[in-house]
Amino acid sequence: MSLSIEDYARVARPEAVERLRQLARPLTGARVVHVNSTREGGGVAEILAKLVPFMNELGMHASWEVLVGERAFYDCTKRFHNGLQGHVVELPPALLRAYEQTNRDNLDRLDTTLREADFVFIHDPQPAPLLRLCGERRGRWFWRCHIDVSRPHRPVWKYLRPHVADYDASIFSLADFAQPLPHPQFIVPPSIDPLTDKNRELQDEEIRAVRARFGIDPDRPLVAQISRFDRFKDPVGVIRAWRLARRFLPDVQLVLAGGGASDDPEGAQVLADVQEAAAAEADCHVLLLPADAHRTINALQRTAAVVLQKSLREGFGLTVAEAMWKGRPVIGGNTGGIRLQIVNHHTGFLVDTPEGAALRLRYLMDREDLRHEMGEKARRFVRDHFLITRHLAEYLAMMVALRRGMSSRVSLS
Ligand code: UDP
Repeated sequence: MSLSIEDYARVARPEAVERLRQLARPLTGARVVHVNSTREGGGVAEILAKLVPFMNELGMHASWEVLVGERAFYDCTKRFHNGLQGHVVELPPALLRAYEQTNRDNLDRLDTTLREADFVFIHDPQPAPLLRLCGERRGRWFWRCHIDVSRPHRPVWKYLRPHVADYDASIFSLADFAQPLPHPQFIVPPSIDPLTDKNRELQDEEIRAVRARFGIDPDRPLVAQISRFDRFKDPVGVIRAWRLARRFLPDVQLVLAGGGASDDPEGAQVLADVQEAAAAEADCHVLLLPADAHRTINALQRTAAVVLQKSLREGFGLTVAEAMWKGRPVIGGNTGGIRLQIVNHHTGFLVDTPEGAALRLRYLMDREDLRHEMGEKARRFVRDHFLITRHLAEYLAMMVALRRGMSSRVSLS
């Protein structure tokens, strides 16, 4: 069933859809190009899969291009990712050459599309050099950074900064991530789509079937973390927290479910570490999911009594909003965009250590009423702040503002 923007009036605030139409009017016919480095896996792909069709429905000509690269390119950009999130990493010249060459090769393919676009959104560091390589251009270019760059490893930022400084504007998910750059910076948190397979209501029967498919006991409680297998998501810390909590809650099962992203070369190693840590535990289910397992993830989030997202760094953490939207209290790492979503003690708990997560897990598992109360608040909080209608409206407003020379007042009439 294909959805139209009008369907969103039912779940978001009714005025949200009219606001979108109003913001989109001055952008009718605009050519918009988004560029990132993977079609599936991870939050950026998840968001683009919805934003791009919506822009088209609102009268723009929007497209989504994905960089194509070899192993050395992804090794390099994974180092950028780790370095921007604060890890000390090496940047060997051969990898930097592969990075720049991959961008040149992709530009050969995308040149005309990019030059002729009215607006270009470059997502994250992978395609950042395209602007400088592109030369002549007619449109406005945004650098959209989805990761936590609040405390980058300096040599990485020093290398990347010249690639992003010439953009017309940059967009970060949180004010904490903003950097000294010579152009306007917008703060736009990401969002979830409440009507996709990932987030829509499911029948109990389907949820039960998912439990059965993975051999999860239907009668005992479950807690879950759904994430790519990435060290920053701390899956091994989640196992540790669950083990500690289990001394008092022997019935509780754990699911760690995730897949890889085609631009993440470290996933297999992290998965192997997780499997090793879980090997001796009958009640710890490590599930490797295919890229299109949206309904499965939906069911796992709904069947969990509590959802964990114990990240050590997190740009935003769509999985947090997804679980909150399903009325689940989330125990999340006290970092980055998770702090924006979890209002500590109200919509969930923020934790710094596996021990802290274990304590909160025990507290919540013993209190069903509190779980429901927190879950209800969490759902309302996502409805008011983290749905795609708000996200899209902010993108449109930025585009209008940039086109009109960033005057402090933009009239839409
Ligand atoms: N996701 C998925 N399959 C997986 C793991 C995650 O579809 O095996 C989805 C998840 O539901 C969420 C997105 O990928 O929509 C992850 O976004 P998030 O911002 O949480 O983290 P990122 O992977 O971008 O660091």
